[in-house]
Amino acid sequence: MGFRVLNKYPRVIVIGGGLGGLWTTLKIVEAGFNVELFSLFEVKRSHSVCAQGGINAVLDSKGQRDSVRQHVIDTVKGGSYLANQPPILSMCEEAPGLIRTFERMGVTFSRTAEGLMDLRLFGGVKNKRTCFAGASTGQQLMYGVDEQVRRYEALGKVQKHEWWEFLSLIFDSKQYCKGIVAFDLRSLEVKGFRADAVVIATGGMGQVYGRRTTNSTSSTGAAAMRCFRQGARLANTEFFQFHPTAMLGDDKTRLMSEAARGEGGRIWVPKNPRDTRDPLTIPESERFYFLEDWYPSYGNTVPRDIACRAIWKAVRELELGVGGMDKVYLDLTHLDKKHVVTRLGAILDIYRKFHGTDPLHRPMEIFPSAHYAMGGLWIDYEKDPQTGGINYASSRNHATNIPGLYASGECDYGYHGANRLGANSLLSASFSGRVAGESVVAYLQGLESCCEELPPALYAREAEREREINDRLLSSTGKENPYRLHENLGNLMTTKVGVVRDNTTLDLACKQLRELEERSQRIGLGDSSSWSNQSLAYARQVQEMIQLGAVIARSARARDECRGAHYKPAYDLPIPEGKFPGDPEYADYLSKWKTKNERWLKTTLAEYTEDGPAITYEPVDTTLVPPEHPRDYR
Ligand SMILES: Cc1cc2nc3c(=O)[nH]c(=O)nc-3n(C[C@H](O)[C@H](O)[C@H](O)COP(=O)(O)OP(=O)(O)OC[C@H]3O[C@@H](n4cnc5c(N)ncnc54)[C@H](O)[C@@H]3O)c2cc1C
Repeated sequence: MGFRVLNKYPRVIVIGGGLGGLWTTLKIVEAGFNVELFSLFEVKRSHSVCAQGGINAVLDSKGQRDSVRQHVIDTVKGGSYLANQPPILSMCEEAPGLIRTFERMGVTFSRTAEGLMDLRLFGGVKNKRTCFAGASTGQQLMYGVDEQVRRYEALGKVQKHEWWEFLSLIFDSKQYCKGIVAFDLRSLEVKGFRADAVVIATGGMGQVYGRRTTNSTSSTGAAAMRCFRQGARLANTEFFQFHPTAMLGDDKTRLMSEAARGEGGRIWVPKNPRDTRDPLTIPESERFYFLEDWYPSYGNTVPRDIACRAIWKAVRELELGVGGMDKVYLDLTHLDKKHVVTRLGAILDIYRKFHGTDPLHRPMEIFPSAHYAMGGLWIDYEKDPQTGGINYASSRNHATNIPGLYASGECDYGYHGANRLGANSLLSASFSGRVAGESVVAYLQGLESCCEELPPALYAREAEREREINDRLLSSTGKENPYRLHENLGNLMTTKVGVVRDNTTLDLACKQLRELEERSQRIGLGDSSSWSNQSLAYARQVQEMIQLGAVIARSARARDECRGAHYKPAYDLPIPEGKFPGDPEYADYLSKWKTKNERWLKTTLAEYTEDGPAITYEPVDTTLVPPEHPRDYR
């Protein structure tokens, strides 16, 4: 049994069993405290298993003189300077150690013939820095950490509540978070749980974009929205990453990892959009490799926001989409087939299965799709003035603005600013989980009250409130279908709050989201059964997603500039074509860019009000890599 605080055994709840939640759990139990771990399904199936391409860490096994400093610079510039830099420094410093820990957990990283850790190239960087396990890296990492958590589960230190959904937070009279309400997705039992600290590690929110997302059906962001409505801040939600290379499908889109380009895949379109020939018969001279043409320095491995907009320009502005449609080619056919199978086998299988053609012999057809939320729950950190990184002993790290409530993994906004670099998210999910766990331990040690002292009625009351919401939905005769509402939401977000934005359309989006929200109050479920009723959970998630869409749209409407994934052409400030430092035109541009940063290099904060999200801004710590040099991938 763990140790006592205030003469009691403090309780901790972690919600989410992906990489973020598992690392958090591990660190808390290692410190001697017990954890109750909640997940929508078996922890081992959490969405982290879908990650394909790899995880970044400076190991420099290719002898490219890579450095932690360069990893920091790439991450900061990749994110358009919008992320606080102390947490980035600490993350990049700790990355090699994390990889070694994963290895000791048994993760089978791909290796070179000499037995060294193999590394691949990813977007937005010049050095090979991405460790990988074929093209199923997330699965291997998850299994490694999951096994460690199971060890503690067997010792009785971790209690899993799988197939339970988090619904709301419970507070004491001082507004400290002291527990949660969750419901059993099989029996529909709604119950209050005590806790002295709660960690939200519930992953991404891509489902807000409906079918046009690479995320799984569990990535709704509903948990974050529930915390938001109870007072937690959201930050930078307008920065939603579209991944340039997703395979379109009727049901959803599926990611074709950036690793495909890192391994030498090339993106192109026929120069003649009416060219209906088999792509393999189109000669080189009649192909347009637009990324290589527009960004000769980085070519196909420019960061995702840049690649997405280039595809958008090629397809929507130059009307060069394959067959006149929303498609470009991602071509692996010129590469050594054995090499491609070894490195990318897992994604080749996905493409063959869902498209029916073999990427070894025919270019893949791809288009951008909603992929990763850079924004999320606002979290704090404490800077260590000695190192410039974070103070690991602080209970402020990964704390939300609600005392006792923490966040880790993709649901927090911490590390990626305006655009995430590929393979930095498995890293941030693992690192943030670790730090959040340590921070919770520090928080517990300073506890001034204990959840055990609170009256049972507090927990029963909050559970009853949530039960009533379920009962109302189960007995509702409303005419709105949650599946239709979700489809409407996805279409609205994809077309109006997507890759390219403008204020008139965003105003319309905000208005239509209010209408959707109103309609969502009249949901009728086709299923009123009281066992394993999936429509009930889904309907509640749809209601949350609509409100989350409103926060994203409102934040996007408020930010009148272009930065990373947030692109409003009316406010674009492009580098003058063909101009480089030293040129007076470039100097003029640079001065305008700095002026723009004075206004907009700020974190967006959203707070819940009855009248919709209230938006304010806070400064960003840019002390390590000051914003002197604009991103330039030409
Ligand atoms: C297809 C794909 C490929 C990717 N490839 C890479 C890659 O190669 N490299 C990289 O760095 N990043 C990659 N990413 C991103 C990366 O995988 C994720 O950002 C990261 O794994 C998220 O981890 P997480 O722990 O935050 O969340 P998840 O792994 O999504 O876990 C979320 C957990 O929260 C639980 N949960 C959610 N809501 C509730 C609720 N209301 N109540 C209870 N439990 C709840 C779920 O059950 C789950 O256990 C990829 C993402 C996708 C979609």
